[in-house]
Amino acid sequence: MNKTLPRQEETFMPCATTDPEVFHDKNYNDIAKGLCAACFLEETCRSWGRANGEWGTWGGETSEERAAAGFPPDGWRDRTRS
Ligand code: SF4
Repeated sequence: MNKTLPRQEETFMPCATTDPEVFHDKNYNDIAKGLCAACFLEETCRSWGRANGEWGTWGGETSEERAAAGFPPDGWRDRTRS
C-alpha cells in the first residue's frame, strides 16, 4: 500500500455531492459553512477563494466575509455606497 496516497475518507469533499446552489445562495450559508467545516480542504479552499476572486462560500467563508477580510470577489462593489 502506498502510504503517500490519502485514504478515501480523507479525500471526501462535501461539496462534491451537494447541490452547488447551497454554496451560492445566502439562505444556505449556515449549511455550506457546516459542510466546509467537515472538509479536509477547508483552509486551502479558503485561500483559493481569496486568491481567485471567487463568489460563494469557499472554505467556510462567504463572499461578504471574503470582501470584509480584504479579498472581494471579482466584480464586487461596495454595497454601502449609493
Ligand atoms: S472547503 Fe471547499 S472543497 Fe471543502 S466542502 Fe467547502 S467548498 Fe468544498
